Amino acid sequence: MSISVRCPSCGKTMRVPDEAASRSIRCRYCHQPFTARSDDSAGERRLNLPIIVAGILFLLGLIAVILRLAGVW
Ligand SMILES: [Zn+2]
Repeated sequence: MSISVRCPSCGKTMRVPDEAASRSIRCRYCHQPFTARSDDSAGERRLNLPIIVAGILFLLGLIAVILRLAGVW
């Protein structure tokens, strides 16, 4: 099996063997060395940010409701 990785230097996507994951490899286009990371895991990290923001907004709303109920605000 192979994974899809993106070169941070030139932005090209290429497929490398599974064994190369998390290892230092050399881009076949611009020949810059970089650590091979699967595009799939990068997508997971991008997905986490809206969830964190939504969680913070929910907590802020909850605090506002509590303060309003307590008559502080
Ligand atoms: Zn490159």
